[in-house]
Amino acid sequence: MCLCTLDTDFVFHTMHKNVCRNEGSMEQVLEKMRDIIREGGNIVVLAGMNITYDMGLNGVNAEHLAYDVEQKYGYPNDEIVSSSFYTRRAPLFYKYYKEVILNIDDPQPSPIHYGIYKLQQCSKLSAVVTRSVYSIYDKVGCSNVIKLHGSVDENVCPRCKRLYDSHYIKHAKGIPVCEKCGIPLRPGFTLVGEMLDNGKISKASTIVENADILLVLGAGINSTLCRYMVKYYQGDKLLLLNDIEKVGDDRADYRAYGNLRDMFAQVMDF
Ligand SMILES: [Zn+2]
Repeated sequence: MCLCTLDTDFVFHTMHKNVCRNEGSMEQVLEKMRDIIREGGNIVVLAGMNITYDMGLNGVNAEHLAYDVEQKYGYPNDEIVSSSFYTRRAPLFYKYYKEVILNIDDPQPSPIHYGIYKLQQCSKLSAVVTRSVYSIYDKVGCSNVIKLHGSVDENVCPRCKRLYDSHYIKHAKGIPVCEKCGIPLRPGFTLVGEMLDNGKISKASTIVENADILLVLGAGINSTLCRYMVKYYQGDKLLLLNDIEKVGDDRADYRAYGNLRDMFAQVMDF
């Protein structure tokens, strides 16, 4: 199932009881979320792109740089990261890959990543599901991270299947090639127009279905990541923290908006 094709046929999930329990001041809502996390377990985190942007990374599509990218590269960013563009114009694709997607050489985890790791240390975290293609969650020690769109650290030689990390891509001259075979590497993330990994989608949806608490961080409920995953959630503890309110967010049982780092720190203060 390709998440990119869901725009037109997405139907807002209404099976869940539509009771708004998000009452009280934001402080009270954050306290309630903290209590739920402190007392609960089997948490699945849907980690949105705002966590990535908060670190200064651009992601694959770099929607926030649409104008700049088109000015500099002569093509819209969505087109550059498509499979057909990669096939036809690999040099420009890799220029974009190195400069825009890998804009920070050695990205460091933020307090949000450490907070998620703390959930794992408390045996409360079942999995992290994300569209992010960076290895930051692995860097802090999180296990069971499902990267639906692949990873910038898993570029592969189409012939011998050897993997190459983002450092190798970033510092290669021109198009990165396999050291052994001398042929261009395939990017480790899913390109626009390619199917997502069905095994990962299926694993993620099952984990979400069985979660006690679904914690959405840095994304709206109708974002590409959430709108597909949230419909599998059966529980009544869907918590949402994001910068601003988005259409469809009322599906969440508890939600708060503002500075993501600050709010998550409050929720994790137990
Ligand atoms: Zn090779």
